[in-house]
Amino acid sequence: MTYHVHTGGCQCGAIRFRIEGKPGRSSICHCRMCQKAFGAYYAPLVSTEGAAFAWTRGAPKYFQSSNHVQRGFCDNCGTPLTYEAMGTIAVSAGALDDPSSLPPSIQYGIESKLPFVEHLHALPARRTEEDIADAPFLADLNSNQHPDHDTDMWQPIPARSAQDAGKTEDDA
Ligand SMILES: [Zn+2]
Ligand SMILES: [Zn+2]
Repeated sequence: MTYHVHTGGCQCGAIRFRIEGKPGRSSICHCRMCQKAFGAYYAPLVSTEGAAFAWTRGAPKYFQSSNHVQRGFCDNCGTPLTYEAMGTIAVSAGALDDPSSLPPSIQYGIESKLPFVEHLHALPARRTEEDIADAPFLADLNSNQHPDHDTDMWQPIPARSAQDAGKTEDDA
């Protein structure tokens, strides 16, 4: 039997998790609540049912999105991290260090599926380098994103308020 370990965490790195053992189902959910919770057209989720799940750094905050479901997120950077119901935790597949390792095998909530989602793969497609003329800042971008592996030490960049975010670099 293959030994499975999957790690992941939020964008800023304040929260990290580990899944040991074979995870449960990998899915995408089109339901309106998942769209809203992820700020996205659908939510990619991997069930940890049947595996050992642990928070290895920090812990999420929760929003009780219904009487049966709570959703965990990083209160520093805002990354959606979990969907939790009936005592089981599903993690955001995009928060995994290697999202390609657990491809989805089913779609849920298709009554709310946005019609254009069927055609996303057919849209014009560009690489980031091709956009540097339109967005020159991309040329000297310094990422504050946590790397895609566990780290011994990591100091997350503190969250900024809307007031701070409105300031230009010249004000700082
Ligand atoms: Zn974070
Ligand atoms: Zn959903």
